[in-house]
Formats: sequence, structure tokens, C-alpha cells
Amino acid sequence: MSQPAPDASEPSPRVIALVDDDPMWRFLTSTALQGFGWTVEDHDSGQSLIDALPRSAADIILIDAMMPGMDGFQTCEAIRRTPAGARIPILMLTSLEDDDSIRAAYEAGATDFFIKSTHWVLLAERIRHLVRSGRIGRELDLTSDRLARVNTAAGVAAFDFDVVARVLRGSPGSFQVLGLGADRDQISQHELMELLEPQDRLPFLEAVADGVRRRRGIRAEFRLRTPGGELRHVLAEGEPELDVAGHVRLLRGVMRDQTDERRRLQEIERLATRDSLTGLPNRAEFLRRLGLSIEQAAASSTEVHVALFNLDRFTQFNETLGHAAGDELIVEAARRVESAVAQWLRAMGSGSLAADGGACVARLQGDEFAFMIGGLGGPHVVEALVQSVLREIGRACRVDGIDCFMTSSAGLAAYPRHAETPESLLSRADRANREVKARGRNDFAWYLPGLDRGGRHRIQMLSDLHKAVEREEFEVHYQPWVYAPEARVTGLEALVRWRRGGKLVAPGEFIPLAEESGLIIPIGEMVLRQAARALAGWRAQGIDLDCVAVNVPTQHFERDSLLASTREALSLAGLGPGAIELELTETCMVQDFERTLPRLEALIDAGAKLAIDDFGTGYSSLAYLTRLPISKLKVDRAFVNQLGGSRSGEAVCRAIVALGQSLQVQVLAEGVETADQVHALRRLGCQTMQGFLFSRPVPADQIPEAITRAGELAARLLAAEPAPGVTGAPGVRIGQTQS
Ligand code: C2E
Ligand code: MG
Ligand code: MG
Repeated sequence: MSQPAPDASEPSPRVIALVDDDPMWRFLTSTALQGFGWTVEDHDSGQSLIDALPRSAADIILIDAMMPGMDGFQTCEAIRRTPAGARIPILMLTSLEDDDSIRAAYEAGATDFFIKSTHWVLLAERIRHLVRSGRIGRELDLTSDRLARVNTAAGVAAFDFDVVARVLRGSPGSFQVLGLGADRDQISQHELMELLEPQDRLPFLEAVADGVRRRRGIRAEFRLRTPGGELRHVLAEGEPELDVAGHVRLLRGVMRDQTDERRRLQEIERLATRDSLTGLPNRAEFLRRLGLSIEQAAASSTEVHVALFNLDRFTQFNETLGHAAGDELIVEAARRVESAVAQWLRAMGSGSLAADGGACVARLQGDEFAFMIGGLGGPHVVEALVQSVLREIGRACRVDGIDCFMTSSAGLAAYPRHAETPESLLSRADRANREVKARGRNDFAWYLPGLDRGGRHRIQMLSDLHKAVEREEFEVHYQPWVYAPEARVTGLEALVRWRRGGKLVAPGEFIPLAEESGLIIPIGEMVLRQAARALAGWRAQGIDLDCVAVNVPTQHFERDSLLASTREALSLAGLGPGAIELELTETCMVQDFERTLPRLEALIDAGAKLAIDDFGTGYSSLAYLTRLPISKLKVDRAFVNQLGGSRSGEAVCRAIVALGQSLQVQVLAEGVETADQVHALRRLGCQTMQGFLFSRPVPADQIPEAITRAGELAARLLAAEPAPGVTGAPGVRIGQTQS
């Protein structure tokens, strides 16, 4: 008969701890087991084993049941209470075969029992079996322990829901998903309900009841408040286990903490639907909400109103103050639109912007905002709201240490009157907005069905403009300016006109389109050449003129060709340096100042003089102005217009004149229309003036006459000028007309 040796696959060392008070039995048993290849640690009392246990390498413990003092049963219990002995297989050796002893052995924690005998083969076989199954048991424990830990870390817990006892069972730590301690391995339904958010309790119970009734799997999502006060989103999924009678006894499944996942989804959703700069809904979200409102309005036969806003001259703000300041302005504008609409909704008692309801404010792009109001009030009510938004945006706002005055324009459209889809409604509001811009900004307008034809009109105009450049349909008119102390016209501004089928078109109507399409370059070069030639012609007739001024838009200024064209225009006309003055805007000169400055200097080297046109409407910083190589500031017509009308208009003119004097550049007032304006300007120290009062822009052939008349008028005005004492001292008196 072969000897049952310890399994070769079992890890060594293979050690038995043996406790027996009887030295004879101890000796016999040890010797026999050693014969089977085991190492035996033997002890004569329970206490001796327990003391040695922490250092012991035993794979199994054999205990004699009957010992004096601490008997085998007590020793067994004591071993189970120690950390090292909690899981080790224990074989109780007994000479008693009665039921009580066997029960007592198991109750004390023994793994099995063996009737003392000299059947060593049987004993060795039993030991081998116990060691192996003990090891498998320990590995299983370890694996499920690890699994539980991984699950806890992943926010997952396996559970059994006992539908009869109404108890949820798991392994220790499972219910950390619910925010409970690591020691908890079960929780009653009642306790679970206490944790759940009140609104989620009934749906959860219904899902369970439904699963039990129909013997189907359940899937329930719920929110709960952990004992620590944290809100968690949990998903529980379970499958039913049936008893022999076919009733559901258990729901077995897993619970998953989805809080982080939810948060990430919400963040993704926020990024996809919100504008990152202002936090307002973005264009896509606006269109979605508008779509919902339209559906509701269609069902209730009400209207949805859409307003599209943008800031007037925002590009100028942005270029002058820099993009960071531009962003600040946008954020501030967003805040104002939002708060005006929110306030209005409160006043109407109609909910808030937060809800996925009938009102929404969004940033569509750049400086463009929109709001929509569904089912609230008619056109007049909406107009009042738009006006309050325009007013809000119009309030002064401090950016980068400067008080900025923004204005904005709004276009309005209504469902279903003007359009029936979100996109077309927005595009109609945009069309109306462009109409406001064309009319002069800082206002609002409703979409009018005729406006769409503006699109076709524009395309037609663009095509005509291309042909006009080819056919040279442009004429240059000239407007003289007067130097008051000498009552003399010293120069002229060249202003282009388009002769379009018998009618003269003013530059305001085609220059923006020419700029957008790039046609402004050939037009500008033509004006430059023609103006130079015309000046040479008048000089040849004996008319003494310092220079002719030509308007140069930013786009043209940025072309390298401008330098060559200026040189060429001067030399073709045989003119010397300073005969052509280029009028540029403040924005054009100061944006990207360090790059612009050398270009300005190169233009001067080429023989041009430089003037700032429409001065006062941009936002130049004084620091730049002192470094610009300019010879003239042209005060914008808007300020001259206010002379005598408002103190602030006069203050601006006075400040510009003083600025010109300190920079040692000439100051010219544009748009002078009345004698009073002439007198007021002279009192402020501004001596050079241009405007309808002296002459409208006229074709080249009418210029000699216009110059004479302008000089004569200047002389008459001078003669009629109020005495210095009475008016506040004009300074110089104008002499006789000179040309
Ligand atoms: P701007 O350079 O400020 O030209 C002055 C404008 O004011 C001219 O309008 C002129 O006719 C008008 N004006 C002159 N005196 C008075 C007055 O007393 N009262 C009023 N109400 N207006 C007066 P215009 O010719 O319609 O030109 C408008 C703008 O178009 C010009 O403003 C200029 O920016 C642009 N422009 C004109 N010609 C050209 C050109 O050849 N090239 C480019 N790029 N732009 C041009
Ligand atoms: Mg000009
Ligand atoms: Mg001007």
C-alpha cells in the first residue's frame, strides 16, 4: 500500500502542530507523521501552542480533546480568537465518539474530528485533505477580499437583496458605496430609504416590486445623501433568484456610484452648451432652446420673440484697447444683457433664465448676443425690454482704467410672423440688426419682409462696383478748407463719387462694400493719381494751394503698394514733397503701433504729409499721439456740430485744439456749417475750417470759383466778427481775400 505523502504541488514546508498531554501518544503520532514526510512541532499543552502560534509555520493543528486544565475544546476556541489561528485547519483528536463531543468540537471552531487510533494512513490522508481544502479556502477568501477592495475603490458593490426579510446583504465594505462604514455588511430596506432623497424613494421601491412581481431584472437610479452629507448618484442593477416554488427570494446584483461620471457628463454638457468666456448659453444651445419655445408656441398659438444684439464699433474698441480689454467688455455686456432680461422676467412674474423654459440669453459669437422670450407679451412689451437692454449696455463701464461708453444695436424678429425655424428667425433678427447699423447704430428695428431684398441688392451692387472699377465710373470731387487768419483756401480734400447710371452715389453707400471686397485699393489709387494731377493743374493756373488731401482706409494703408503709389502720383504730376496729405484714422495708426510707425515714417520720406481724420471718435492713447509723425488733426464733425449747443461739445473742441497746439500740429474743424461755429472755433483757437458753409465738395472744374467764394466769405465773416472784449477775444483779425 502506497503511503499518502504530502501533495507535491503543495508549497513546503509542510508542518503540523500537535498538542497532546500524553507523551506516549505524542511520540507515536509524531513519529508516524514524520514517516509520511511531515515536520511536526509538538506541544504538551494548549497554552504552549498558543504561545508559539505567532512564530509557528504550521499548516494544520492537531489537538487532543481530553487534556487536563485547558482542554482541546478550550484550546480550539482560544486559537480561533488569535489572528494567526483564525483560518488554520484544526483537527480534533478524540477517543470519544458520542454526538456531544463531535458537536462540541465543531462549535469550538474545529474543522474536523478524528477518532484516536493507530490507523496512521487514514490520519495522514485526512490531514492532507484538510490542508489542501484549507489552502483553497484561504485563497478564495483572499480573492473575494481583493475583489471587494477593488470594487470599493471603483465605487461598485455586490449585494443580495432578501425580498422577504427586506435586507440588503453584501461583503464587509460593500456599503461604502452608500457612504456607510467599512464594517457594514448589511443594511435594512428601512435604513436605505432613510438615505435616499425623498423624491427617489417611491420610484426605487416600485422598481423592486416590479422586478419581484414579474420575475425580471431591475435597474434603478437614485440619489442619496450619505451620513456625511454628501450627495451621490447610485445605479443599482439586479437579477432575480427564484426558490423551488418559483417565487423571487433574492435580487442579486451590483450597485455603482455614478457621482463622478455624472459630474463629468455635466461638465461635458456645460462645455458643449455654454460659451466659455461669459458662461452664457452658446449659439447651439440658443437654437435648441429656441426650437423648444417654437414648439410650445405652435401648440399654444403664441409668439416667440428674438432679439439679436451687437456692440457698436466693437472692433475699434478691441483694436485700440487690446483683446484682453475687449474680452472684459464682452463679459460686462453679457452681464448687463442677462441682468436686464432677468429683471424684466421677475417684473413680469414669469420665471427665471435658469429654467429650461421660455426665456434664454446667449452669446452667439464675438460681440454678438441674443435673447428670446416665448409666449410673453406682444411686440410693445418686447420693445420695452430691448430698450432697457440698450440703456443698460449704454451705461459707462470702466475697462483698463478708461471709462468706455459702449452702445449697441438690436434686430428683432418674431415667430411665426417673420420666420418659422430657429435658424431663419435668428437670421431675420440679424438682417434687422444690420439695418440698424446701416441707419447709424444705437437703436433697434424689427425685421421687415422687404429687408431680405437688401441681400440681393447688395450682390447686385457688388457686381456693379466691379464693373465701375473697370469702366472708371468714379469721379473725384474736392472740398476746400479755409485758413481763417488769412481768409484763404490753403488746401482741398478729395472725395470720391460713383457715377452710377446718371446718378451720383455718395461714398457712404459704396465705400464699406468696396472695403469688404478689396475694390477700395484700385479706387484709392485712382483718387490719389487724379488728385495729384488736379493739384498740379490748379497750381499751373496760379492758384496757391499747400496740398490736396486723400482719404486712406486701413486696408489700403496696410498695402506696401501705397508707398510706391504715393511716390508715383507726386512724380507723375511733377509735385514736390508735402503736396499730398494722406488722411488716416486714429485706429489705423495706433493698432500694432511699433509696426505702423516705420510705415508712417516711410510715407513721409516718400513725400506725403499725414493727418488724422475724424479725430475724437477713436480711442487713441496720448502716449501714442505724441509719437505719431502727423501734421494735422481733423476734428470730427460731430463735435463741431455741438458747438454752442452743449458745453461738453465745446469742451472736447477746446481740448483737441489745446492738444494740437501742444503737439505743434494744425487743427482743422470738419463740417463747419454756420457763422456761429466759425466764431466759436476762432475763440477756441482753431483757425482752419472745412464745411458746407464755405463750400460743398464740387467737381474739379468748379474749384477755382469755389475757392474764390470761400475766401470772400471768410473775409466777410472776419469783418463781422464780434469785438474781442464782448466775446472773449478771438485773437487775430482776418485780412483780405488772397485768391
Ligand atoms: P471724411 O473724410 O470725414 O469726409 C468728410 C465728409 O463730410 C464728406 O462726406 C463731406 O462731404 C462731408 N462734409 C463736409 N462738410 C460738411 C458739412 O458742413 N456738413 C456735413 N453734414 N457734411 C460735410 P462724403 O464725401 O460723403 O464722404 C464721407 C466719407 O467717405 C469720408 O469722410 C471718407 O471717410 C469717405 N471717403 C470719401 N472719399 C473717399 C475716398 O476717396 N477714399 C476713401 N477711402 N474714403 C473716402
Ligand atoms: Mg477725410
Ligand atoms: Mg472726416
